[in-house]
Amino acid sequence: MTATLSNSSASANPSATALRQTWDNSQFFAGTDDPAIATTTDQIKAAIADLRAACAPFAELIETADTLPAEKDAELIASIRNIHEQQKTLRKKLGNLSTYIYTALSVDTQDAHANCWMPIIQKLSADLSEAMTPYSVFLLRSSDRFIAAMLADPALAETAFSIHHQRKLKDQLLSVAEEQLITGLATNGLHAWGNLYSELAGTLKCQMKGDTDNTGDSDNSDDSNSTIGLAQAANLLSHPDSATRKAAWEGIRSAWREHQSAVAAGLNAINGWRLEETEKRAHTRKLHYLDKSCHQSRIERITLDALMDTTFQNRQIGHRALAAMAKALGQKQMNPWDTMAPAPAAGDQEFIHFDEAIALISDAFNQLTPEMGEFATMMARRGWIDGKPTANRATGAYCSKFYEPKEPRIFLTYEGTMTNVITLAHELGHAWHNWVMRDLSAIESRYPMTLAETASIFAETLVRDALMQRATTPAQQLEIAWQDAQSAAAFLLNIPARFEFEKRLVEARKVGALRPAQLSEMMNDSWKLWFEDSLSQYNELFWASKLHFSISSLGFYNYPYLFGYLFSLGIYAQQGTGPSLGPSDEQSNDFNQRYTRLLRDTGTMTAEELVQHHLQKDLSQPQFWQDSLSIVEQSVERFEQLVEQAIAQKAVNT
Ligand SMILES: [Zn+2]
Repeated sequence: MTATLSNSSASANPSATALRQTWDNSQFFAGTDDPAIATTTDQIKAAIADLRAACAPFAELIETADTLPAEKDAELIASIRNIHEQQKTLRKKLGNLSTYIYTALSVDTQDAHANCWMPIIQKLSADLSEAMTPYSVFLLRSSDRFIAAMLADPALAETAFSIHHQRKLKDQLLSVAEEQLITGLATNGLHAWGNLYSELAGTLKCQMKGDTDNTGDSDNSDDSNSTIGLAQAANLLSHPDSATRKAAWEGIRSAWREHQSAVAAGLNAINGWRLEETEKRAHTRKLHYLDKSCHQSRIERITLDALMDTTFQNRQIGHRALAAMAKALGQKQMNPWDTMAPAPAAGDQEFIHFDEAIALISDAFNQLTPEMGEFATMMARRGWIDGKPTANRATGAYCSKFYEPKEPRIFLTYEGTMTNVITLAHELGHAWHNWVMRDLSAIESRYPMTLAETASIFAETLVRDALMQRATTPAQQLEIAWQDAQSAAAFLLNIPARFEFEKRLVEARKVGALRPAQLSEMMNDSWKLWFEDSLSQYNELFWASKLHFSISSLGFYNYPYLFGYLFSLGIYAQQGTGPSLGPSDEQSNDFNQRYTRLLRDTGTMTAEELVQHHLQKDLSQPQFWQDSLSIVEQSVERFEQLVEQAIAQKAVNT
């Protein structure tokens, strides 16, 4: 943390003191029809061609990379330094353009210009990686001696972690010809299956059948037998009306049931490919199918085991959350279509104005450090947040960033609910993470998915704690606690069941291809293992309806969510602890400094190193995870009490 907020340009502009709910990206381009976009694209294309030419000579050095004589070092390092500088400039330019178009599409998904530019930009990114392949492969295959000499160059020192981490895969490399063959064939083989899935998911239509056992609280007759897209149906799973949620849930399942053979073929091909490739790469040492995922997540297998085993031993926390949620909804048991339901009507819900939300979040952040509180206000003051509902707006919320100047951007649809406030806090947490890293180079600020959710969930927890204190009625408290319960069930049960299913799938695929019926049985067994009897029924077709299993470029896209959730809570729990023995102010300041340093190192350390270095804790031991799970248990306990109170209150009122 070097730059201070006080030298911000916003303070020079008197009108900028008001908070803004729409972002202003006009410093980058005047609009999606700005002719400067075409000019920039041409410049990027030319820069990629230059880079391709600079990287091409490395192709001939790959075979002998491991044995190159030291006399060649100086010449090679000079050329690597040039390539590194070239690509840094290029990536900033491409990053800015890509963020500009992406953010414009979020505000208006029908923007014709932005829709034209999007595939062109995606192609530029792919061209860039492809152009740099000879260079990247050379760095992987070089000798340790050469890499040490290269990293001694001050301009290249920032690549140290990234290069060392990539080179952990060195003993899994195949011959250059084999590597090229795999990459080449994967485009039309492995990745074709992933594309087929996306294509299917984009075109599938769901029948929303008018629910026959509808108890009458849905008077929306338009909903009976209508046909909607998958994304829309998925959104309806958080509809306040249970019959609508059920119809959406059934609609999604029916749609995928029609295509289960195609999805099963894809899962067989993707996992078969991965197993085959792992076997070929295991020429020097034994490889497990989880090794690749752990490497991408920057964790050790022992850490993953500690995380999953400890969570399994605590699965009853998730069961309790579901039982209390069912009670609050006035049901005996939770139905699978109710797990994403909003909190049952919290009486008169007050509308929280955007400015008020920012003030509230800022206050909560102040508890950690005034800098973080001021940051939240600055984001809105500078026009870095877009929350105002617009026609044709994208769903969801995210935090993105421009690369030069380094500025975060937040997108969400803000409609004044408590849930919106929490979402805004979550995204501001991501933005804060980027902000404390803003003086670091791009390569040093790239963190894995396991560590990406640390700051966001941390920020959410700060605000939820503050909101809970501010809530004046039990109904308001229940609405906040509802989200705690929902998160507990999702992270402690649903995510692990997905992990369990994928493990079973890979194990079974070793023996042979699987039929849809076998996949459904495997899915049900995985649900049962984690949920036991906490749900009224299971979605046996989840293996088909969940996109994550069919991502061709990445396996096990599930446990990182659980990791991020518990990791963040574990760090949150460190507040008020630590080496400082001074008064509490000093202690919280000390904690904030440790927390900030930890965030700044998320791009240059493994998860284990990060926690060992900053918190002197061991992620491979169950204790770290147990401490986090105890925090979840406490919040579920609070939720249970609030549900009991609400029921008692209702009994008095009726
Ligand atoms: Zn997030």
